[in-house]
Amino acid sequence: MLAELSPALIAEVKLATQLLASKQRICILTGAGISAESGIPTFRNKQTGLWENYGVEDLATPEAFTRDPKLVWSWYQWRRQMVADKAPNPAHHALAQWQYHAQTSDQQVTLITQNVDDLHEQAGSAVTHLHGHLWRNRCGQCEIPYQDKSRASYDNQGTMSFDETLLSCPHCDGYIRPDIVWFGEALPVQAWQAAEDAAANCEVFISIGTSSLVYPAAGLAQLAKQNGAQVIEINPDPTPNTIVDITLAEKAGIVLPLLIEEITAL
Ligand code: NAD
Ligand code: ZN
Repeated sequence: MLAELSPALIAEVKLATQLLASKQRICILTGAGISAESGIPTFRNKQTGLWENYGVEDLATPEAFTRDPKLVWSWYQWRRQMVADKAPNPAHHALAQWQYHAQTSDQQVTLITQNVDDLHEQAGSAVTHLHGHLWRNRCGQCEIPYQDKSRASYDNQGTMSFDETLLSCPHCDGYIRPDIVWFGEALPVQAWQAAEDAAANCEVFISIGTSSLVYPAAGLAQLAKQNGAQVIEINPDPTPNTIVDITLAEKAGIVLPLLIEEITAL
């Protein structure tokens, strides 16, 4: 219910609804914040437990993998274990519902994510991944996809566990790595092209749960703005994004279902 929000936020939701009701081409970029309410920590949260003494540069860069492949692989197996039982939250479901609704309206809702989880797909969305897929592997040397997904197995309590033993490529003997874009690596060409096209051609760009610090993804909002789009941001905390027209300063899982209920009821 809209009434549960603060008056200032209700006013912003109304503004966003009016704007979206009059526009056809919508481009949405999501980041780690949209999965936070599903229980998946963002990168800005401090690493927990075992990994608290490591920074992202020790774990999610090509240099880290060259230096210590076992450490990096173990961390990703741990992340997979953490993500395995997580489910889409109301924010993922609301976006999927909007895309479904758009099939029978004249709106085009393009969804792009920086996330490597598959919660958008689980909710039923069509989504372009800019930073790869947590559940896929490939060879770190010859790049050939590696099929044996993530070595998940179940222990006798029925808990999923992930083997931390390094795997080798059957083609070139290189180490197998997650099919994820690490810091300092180039984005997949087709996904980036699709994202740039959608951002440059949209009338409204919506940035959800991203700190807007990681480039080039953070540049998509600017590209949209330069081409005449209005920008909406959904994030409970302020970001360095200075080109925002409408700010919905609330958790995505709270504000998105309300916003999309308003839009799809029109
Ligand atoms: P980030 O960690 O830099 O920032 C997360 C943002 O989400 C913050 O601005 C925070 O204020 C906001 N946020 C937190 N809770 C929210 C909520 N409930 N609703 C809306 N917003 C909320 O994440 P980023 O900008 O996506 O960039 C970090 C990189 O880390 C990305 O490249 C991404 O691939 C990767 N990453 C992915 C996952 C995942 O797949 N779930 C998780 C962690 C990191
Ligand atoms: Zn190989």
